[in-house]
Amino acid sequence: MTNTKVEESLGRLSVLRRFPVNPHALAAIAEDLRSLCSDDGEADRLVAAILGRFDMWPGPAAIRDIHRAEIAPQRPRELEPSGCDKCRGRGGWRAVFVVTEQLADGSIKRETVYPTGNIMQAEVEIEQHYAGSKTHRVDTAMVAPCDCPRGMLRREELRQRDAQRQRQ
Ligand SMILES: [Zn+2]
Repeated sequence: MTNTKVEESLGRLSVLRRFPVNPHALAAIAEDLRSLCSDDGEADRLVAAILGRFDMWPGPAAIRDIHRAEIAPQRPRELEPSGCDKCRGRGGWRAVFVVTEQLADGSIKRETVYPTGNIMQAEVEIEQHYAGSKTHRVDTAMVAPCDCPRGMLRREELRQRDAQRQRQ
């Protein structure tokens, strides 16, 4: 990350209420930005995400959380595991079926079914299996993280995004 971009980022963040003016605090924030952002583009996206969400300076811990949940996952994915034959070309995502079951107490239970083999064939089979059921509904062609290592990365991103959402 270039010094110019660090300066610019601090300047943009200073529109937030209670943004520090103490030079030591600013130096610490600059240091955080440098260690978090791998390049200038990442710094731009991080600052935009912060300004889109806060009116008041949220503090360094929140900045690190936003970076981990929203900015880091956008990094190029060449370094990821290549994925298995079920999710190759889909970046770790694959088609699944979600079976929704209406329980006797009125609550809803959801089960994700990972089809093996031909997706069209699997769809016919699962729809036949639950055909005529008054308690089960099958949602087809949903997308979920795969169960291979590449899918695990997608799953972790979802988990972080949910955690982020719950804090808001
Ligand atoms: Zn996979």
